[in-house]
Amino acid sequence: MHKKIESIDHLEGSGISGYRAIVFRSQFSADLRLKMARRRRIYEGKAKILFEGPEPGTLVQYFKDEATAFNNKKQGIITGKGVLNNRISEYLMMKLSEIGIPTHFVRRLNMREQLVREVEIIPVEVVIRNVAAGSLTKRFGMEEGTALPRSIVEYYYKSDELDDPMISEEHITAFGWASPQEMDEIMHMSLRVNDFLTGLFLAIGIRLVDFKLEYGRLWNDEEMRVVLADEISPDNCRLWDVSTNEIMDKDRFRRDLGSVEEAYQEVARRLGILPEAGSAGDIDGPAVMQ
Ligand code: C5P
Repeated sequence: MHKKIESIDHLEGSGISGYRAIVFRSQFSADLRLKMARRRRIYEGKAKILFEGPEPGTLVQYFKDEATAFNNKKQGIITGKGVLNNRISEYLMMKLSEIGIPTHFVRRLNMREQLVREVEIIPVEVVIRNVAAGSLTKRFGMEEGTALPRSIVEYYYKSDELDDPMISEEHITAFGWASPQEMDEIMHMSLRVNDFLTGLFLAIGIRLVDFKLEYGRLWNDEEMRVVLADEISPDNCRLWDVSTNEIMDKDRFRRDLGSVEEAYQEVARRLGILPEAGSAGDIDGPAVMQ
């Protein structure tokens, strides 16, 4: 039996399984698929792929549906996550650049890709916490949901092999991962991002519990500046509904709470950026689905 559908995401989201359907794609997605195959892959991470960009100094950041947790020990697919994170991250990066935070983001290209400036990633994950959750509660035996007396900034060394160990500014400067001046900028920017995003989310009934940021060095001739890089999405933020405390982020996947894509969709809906129904002109190619 053949069933013509708009996109693979649509099929996957429809709950059709154990069922043979030939998926037809538009000429648009066929062209994009061809382009993607020809492009040079620079780096593949757990949730994203970086391709060579159309001009020197640019990259194309492709958002996958793959989800991982606990440093790859848990893996899965959250259908449509890539499309939502691309859109959510675009929105938040643009809002941040409006208040003067420099970012690597240039523009969104399509449902799953955005154009970004090529930066030299600083191998430090910056975690900002407003409410006790996750590893902080484990480390200090605190109850999840306890408000912190003030926002806490933590640093982790980006290393899968070492399981991203927690580090201090001393390690960062002593080992030369970033200079003291860069760390001052990073700390200052992270607190501004936190203040701004806390307000932005509160206005749509969401508590920004904690989140992770990454920074990179952007070179312009002889000049270098530190800019916000990577993505900001429910993959790297903890977002709780203000009135019900319902979890609206990747913890739904980490803790097997179900309705993961619905939660990401709800975040996008409240931000006013939910991709329109039927417009998910995905760039996945044709597939024979079993
Ligand atoms: O696990 P932990 O409580 O330390 O995470 C703090 C915040 O940083 C969470 O919002 C989590 O999603 C994010 N994080 C991340 N990538 C990591 C570690 C943490 O996005 N490698």
